[in-house]
Amino acid sequence: MTTSSEWPRVELAQVPSLERAREIADLVYKSCRLKDLETEEAFAVMYGLGRFNVKLTKLEAVNGGFEALLFPGYDNDKFMILADSYVSGNSNEERYMRIAHEIGHSFFYDRKSKIKLLKQSIITKNIEEEKFCDEFASQLLKLIQRR
Ligand SMILES: [Zn+2]
Repeated sequence: MTTSSEWPRVELAQVPSLERAREIADLVYKSCRLKDLETEEAFAVMYGLGRFNVKLTKLEAVNGGFEALLFPGYDNDKFMILADSYVSGNSNEERYMRIAHEIGHSFFYDRKSKIKLLKQSIITKNIEEEKFCDEFASQLLKLIQRR
């Protein structure tokens, strides 16, 4: 049986459970066929299939700036992810976590229209959504790095 790798169709209008966050990470891992790939390769595959354009830049997270940002509708059908290039220590771990966290946010958009399905207040950050994205990111990293 041959299956092609593809970005899973997940569009969330509500913040699901943390268990579901881990399931979606499993789904991405399997659908994109990330098994046996190095971390860098695995992320490159996800950027391609998920149509993410990722740029590292100075966001000054240490000085209270953002760690990373997601922009939908970039270049028509892509998501742009900006991630702070600065990481404490020497590992890429933090950088990958930030990027995976932003990928988590992409599931709250209608992929076609790039309109956010999850309605939320502009002023109050959705803490549940943040928790979901953290859980998704740590599970995804765990899967990719257990090889
Ligand atoms: Zn976030």
